[in-house]
Amino acid sequence: MNAGVLSVEHISKSFGGVHALKDVSMQIRAGEVHCLSGENGSGKSTLIKIISGYYKPDSGKICVDGNEYSEMTPSESINHGIQVIYQDFSLFPNLSVMENLSINAEVARGGKMVSYKRMRETAQRAAEKINLKVDMKAKVADLSVADKQMIAIARALVHEAKVIIMDEATASLTRNEVNCLFEVIHQLKEEGVAIVFVSHKLDEVFEISDSITFFRNGMNVISCKASEINEERFSYYMTGREIQLSQTKPLKGDSTRIVLETKNLTVEGAFEDVNIQLYKGEIFGIAGQLGSGRTELAMTLFGMADIKKGEIFMEGEPVNISSVTKAKELKIGYVPEDRLTEGLFLGQELVENVAITHLPQLSSRAGFYNKKAAGEETTQWIETLSIAPGKRDNLAQKLSGGNQQKVVLAKWLACNPSILILNGPTVGVDIGAKQDIYDLLNRYASQGMSIIIASDDILEIKKLCNRVAVMKGGRINALLCGDEVTEQALVEASI
Ligand code: ADP
Ligand code: MG
Repeated sequence: MNAGVLSVEHISKSFGGVHALKDVSMQIRAGEVHCLSGENGSGKSTLIKIISGYYKPDSGKICVDGNEYSEMTPSESINHGIQVIYQDFSLFPNLSVMENLSINAEVARGGKMVSYKRMRETAQRAAEKINLKVDMKAKVADLSVADKQMIAIARALVHEAKVIIMDEATASLTRNEVNCLFEVIHQLKEEGVAIVFVSHKLDEVFEISDSITFFRNGMNVISCKASEINEERFSYYMTGREIQLSQTKPLKGDSTRIVLETKNLTVEGAFEDVNIQLYKGEIFGIAGQLGSGRTELAMTLFGMADIKKGEIFMEGEPVNISSVTKAKELKIGYVPEDRLTEGLFLGQELVENVAITHLPQLSSRAGFYNKKAAGEETTQWIETLSIAPGKRDNLAQKLSGGNQQKVVLAKWLACNPSILILNGPTVGVDIGAKQDIYDLLNRYASQGMSIIIASDDILEIKKLCNRVAVMKGGRINALLCGDEVTEQALVEASI
């Protein structure tokens, strides 16, 4: 069980003048969950793309199954049982579950004929491996994020995977969905599959990993057993700074000044009879799982929904927040959830990616795949999305999630809103930047800004909010205050 299945040694890689990786090494053993941690831009994805054969390293080697490579091709990587699941899962939303599970194998066959019978068998086998209970005919676009995640894993298992690499796979999952994912990871581990889990979420890393390798600025910091370090060390290895994770007590605000109040607020299909009050200078939490109505409530308060029933008051006066323009006039700001789209075009072949989305349309009725049409389609996409070769670098060099979020936040803070609503303020943001954002929010709230945070991150809510509305099934299931805001209470009220 302890054999090294995959190692990289002294890998360096630069892009133009940027040293993405400098002499990094890492060793993965069979049946272990090895976490690769590091702040955004520390080189994690670059290493993964080298392992998957997408990039060629400048120097160093990749050792797998007793073979040494100075570079690998994508098919060598796959043939050695290495599978990568990107953050967006790189699934094809227009296709069915069955097609998604089998299409890579089908394309890899290289034949011209598409056999639906063979595809069905491949899909069935993959699904059985992780007990996936999803309608094979369902369109992937219609499934939950968690189901999509499971499909991405099942698809990775089509090729007898020995190493499954998950690059920030939990970024858009709720806590419940993360639990399901962890169960599958445990099962894979039992079977001797090595998991490389790329994440900068401290709680998840400690929960799931056996070993951790830290990168900072493209260099190795340390590789250690997860049990050997605590949260402070984790933050230190990540950032190189001693971060005070200490608790400042959440701000209570001024309960005698209600800046915003909703009465029986109802938006059809989203939530019903919501009554909340927001105090001046507090950070009010709206907790709840995906689909609980929390996001919709936050958006409604920023004029992004049709209110069916109920009223909103600001400073005691009824207001009509019927549009975003109106909300802005009322000095309300809104920071949307930052969903990193990294990975979208990182799938190994852009052509296949795009073509595959339309495979049924690009195949004749007899099942012949039209390569020319696929190529034209891809060219169109490249133009639509302005993915010119010169622009690619710009795209990749875009700001990290944390920095993006700070920029958005700063933009709103500069408008000096009296109410700031944040939806998932630190999704995809690493620990250092997260703390900076928390500090910033606390500072503005203590100066009198009233803040609403909609989040499914329980630790975040607990850390920032003195009062929390926990939503479930479109209603407020609990209103917690002060000492009542505990992890357990938040979880219990949301499920
Ligand atoms: P992480 O996954 O840890 O967030 P990345 O591996 O994506 O980090 O990035 C490491 C560094 O390499 C960053 O500075 C990033 O801007 C740079 N980089 C990554 N890919 C490219 C590319 N294709 N072209 C230029 N720079 C890149
Ligand atoms: Mg990355």
